[in-house]
Amino acid sequence: MPVKNRFAEWLPELTAWRRDIHAHPELMFDTHRTAATVAERLREFGCDEVVEGIGRTGVVGVIRGRVPGVGVVGLRADMDALPIEETTGLPHASTSPGKMHACGHDGHTTMLLGAARYLAETRNFAGTAVVIFQPAEEGGGGARVMVEDGLMDRFGITEVYGLHNWPGQPAGSFAIRPGPFFAATDEFNITITGRGGHAAKPQEVIDPIVAASHLVLALQTIASRNADPVGQLVVSVTLLQAGGGAHNVIPQTARLRGTVRTLDPALRDLAEGRMQEIAAGVAATFGAVIDVDYIRSYPVMVNGAAETEHAAAVARDVGGACGDAPLVMGGEDFAYMLEARPGAYILVGNGDTAPVHHPDYDFNDDIIPTGCSWLSGMVEHRLRAG
Ligand SMILES: [Zn+2]
Ligand SMILES: [Zn+2]
Repeated sequence: MPVKNRFAEWLPELTAWRRDIHAHPELMFDTHRTAATVAERLREFGCDEVVEGIGRTGVVGVIRGRVPGVGVVGLRADMDALPIEETTGLPHASTSPGKMHACGHDGHTTMLLGAARYLAETRNFAGTAVVIFQPAEEGGGGARVMVEDGLMDRFGITEVYGLHNWPGQPAGSFAIRPGPFFAATDEFNITITGRGGHAAKPQEVIDPIVAASHLVLALQTIASRNADPVGQLVVSVTLLQAGGGAHNVIPQTARLRGTVRTLDPALRDLAEGRMQEIAAGVAATFGAVIDVDYIRSYPVMVNGAAETEHAAAVARDVGGACGDAPLVMGGEDFAYMLEARPGAYILVGNGDTAPVHHPDYDFNDDIIPTGCSWLSGMVEHRLRAG
């Protein structure tokens, strides 16, 4: 089962689809044009069922194999873009100012469309394939919303698979790892309230800037002094804001913002707990009031051991080899689907391109047949027609 010839034949057409989606990026749940295009194509392919509006703008296609079977394999792609101003200057560059497919979800959507077309044409499997196109991977938790909307039960999905293109990894090569793979991504917003006043009368004020500065430094000790050094933990302050610009005014408040990344639930609890304790300690030290709003976002994305083996087996068939992927401290909301059902997530090399989320990034169309072959291969491998 190397790269299927059908996908090589379809490559010019699939490339045109990918570039059309790239030129029309949509953010979060606002993926109306993309979802409508996907649904139209799935109907053209002859999917047995096409359902729109799952998880707001999510689309699901159902394809039954030529042999009945109890297995239902879900394949997932994400459809949303990012709020980035594209600088590639390519002919198919974004036509929407400030929006860009900088994570390659245009490519993921196209690869899953290609796989759906092939599966609907050949139906060489026993059971059911469910193709899942989700909105809002980049921060909106579209996967969670689709799962909450009954995705898994409604279509009887028994296992679920997904992929991401990976710049810096040789084009079309595969890499995967079992167990925790992508980090839990939490966010925090901290407000420090002091007492503002004249900058020449420090004895009369409670300076929120001094308290905020100490807090930023103290938060660094969660990773360096509290966490076991062999674990993985990132605590990053990404915003520090105070004052209106006057040289002679101490402001009333300061704000911090940032992210916490972990791959282990115990470390996640530790980071949240220590953040609250350190904030309380700094507040007591300076007489300020510090409010910490800690928001748990995407959970750790955990690949099933058996499903990782299945995914790697198909990857070896398609690409000749499957490497060991590194741990990723970025988040991925496919984690919610993997909490709901067994499954696995694999990386496909995008070659030597700009990194994802960069304004010069572009998805590598050469890897479309590889992704299509792996996605459709997962169905044929897991639902063998005998
Ligand atoms: Zn992304
Ligand atoms: Zn992405």
